[in-house]
Amino acid sequence: LSERLQGTMTKIKGKGKVNEADVKEMMREVRFALIEADVNLKVVKEFVKKISERAIGQDVMDSLTPGQQVVKIVKDELTELMGGEERKIEFSTKQPTVIMMVGLQGAGKTTTTGKLANLLRRKHNRKPLLVAADVYRPAAIQQLETIGKQLSLPVFSKGTDMSPVEIARQAIEHAKAEHLDTVIIDTAGRLHVDEALMQELKDIRALKEPDEIFLVVDSMTGQDAVNVAQNFDAAIGITGVVLTKLDGDTRGGAALSIRSVTQKPIKFVGMGEKMDALEAFHPERMASRILGMGDMLSLIEKAQSNVDEVKAKELEEKFRTSTFTFDDFLEQMTQVKQMGPLDEILKMLPGANKIKGLENAKVDEGQMDRVEAIIYSMTKKEKTTPEIINANRKKRIAKGSGTNIQDVNRLLKQFEDMKKMMKQMSGMNTKKGRKKMGM
Ligand code: GDP
Ligand code: MG
Repeated sequence: LSERLQGTMTKIKGKGKVNEADVKEMMREVRFALIEADVNLKVVKEFVKKISERAIGQDVMDSLTPGQQVVKIVKDELTELMGGEERKIEFSTKQPTVIMMVGLQGAGKTTTTGKLANLLRRKHNRKPLLVAADVYRPAAIQQLETIGKQLSLPVFSKGTDMSPVEIARQAIEHAKAEHLDTVIIDTAGRLHVDEALMQELKDIRALKEPDEIFLVVDSMTGQDAVNVAQNFDAAIGITGVVLTKLDGDTRGGAALSIRSVTQKPIKFVGMGEKMDALEAFHPERMASRILGMGDMLSLIEKAQSNVDEVKAKELEEKFRTSTFTFDDFLEQMTQVKQMGPLDEILKMLPGANKIKGLENAKVDEGQMDRVEAIIYSMTKKEKTTPEIINANRKKRIAKGSGTNIQDVNRLLKQFEDMKKMMKQMSGMNTKKGRKKMGM
């Protein structure tokens, strides 16, 4: 989806003047891109109609930058299509909050149960209890127990003999007694939507009206995901959708259709198998990502959740006062490493998907080791005042780190560039600064 749309956008953006024929041509491209991405046909039609109307409007034609206006319209409408505002998760005032995870087999319910618990604990300070209510597959219970151990979170499981409804009932009692404020129930799935499954889910739902019933769907299944969402919603009523495996979904059709077909918001997206790979869904950011405008905000957020707050403040101060040293640089690099594989991070940068081969690229992590070696070969004085590093010193550093002068030069240049950039960015924490950066 992205590639095709981005091509069209780039073409239109540069246009000095836009006439009706241009818009028509562009709408054709947009329609193709959406259909190719497996977006629901009805959704495509309405979407194209909406942007056509707005794009042919007088204010666009008369504007000085009509191309950019059109791109903005497409972005706005894409955002709207995916739900507009970000939807927050609902917590109950009466303890505990109950969240039911439902969906077909293999959609990612059990994994998402763990990820969600992890996120709620980290970002909302909740105390979750994971409930193993998929009693039809012993492996499913074990899977959840393993996840609980890994995250050091309690798992309520009673093996496969007790009914899922009874397990859920006892789990809610247990949570009350133990002051665990959030109960997340991992329910069973089937390969297809069926009556017995729906009845079971209804019985669990009847115990204590859940604050959220999250339908977990695999985004790779495209329009099927949309059908599943419709069926589940009709049968038991869902409050939101978690789209999993978005990391592997190149077409993005489900993300675009689900909301307008079911009227239920996408609340979270799964971006990988690891326990921290769950993100709140931001329609606007997703639209930017689709249009190749990058996803700087997610990136910054990702960085923030990995960087110690106090340290971050210290760093910012250092940037501002230009006392940032190579020691700080090293420390930062270590933190970046902890953020996860670099190639994943890179993909979030604006325009990164236009860099050929990046999809399959593995970032050269050896490069980072070389940088480390170079910094370790510097003297204390050199690390704090790199200006003193002359040709002789460079030679010594290169030798000491087993690299060459070019490597040292490159690092020094990067360091200077980074300092400059960071100095600009540290102004971003003020409203005015943010505006200046276009955020
Ligand atoms: P369930 O049957 O609905 O409980 O599904 P599981 O939680 O067992 O997940 C099925 C498979 O999908 C597992 O191998 C998960 O690791 C994988 N999975 C779940 N969510 C994601 C995701 O967001 N991205 C990727 N790449 N894999 C995922
Ligand atoms: Mg499961």
